[in-house]
Amino acid sequence: MDSDSRLDLEFAYTTYRDCCRDLYSPYYYCRRPLGHDGVHAAGFGSGRVRWEHRPDHAPHLLS
Ligand SMILES: [Zn+2]
Repeated sequence: MDSDSRLDLEFAYTTYRDCCRDLYSPYYYCRRPLGHDGVHAAGFGSGRVRWEHRPDHAPHLLS
């Protein structure tokens, strides 16, 4: 499962160009590596959010 510390590491080693960027809101996009398994995630500490991919979601709006 995704622990917060593992996500912190993933975020630290994933550049903007290489990350998933699935949008959660206009202010949060997925910071996990492109093609990752499991849920999308963004933010740090108490701002951490996780979300499932939604088929009606338009991906990569920021790219
Ligand atoms: Zn993602």
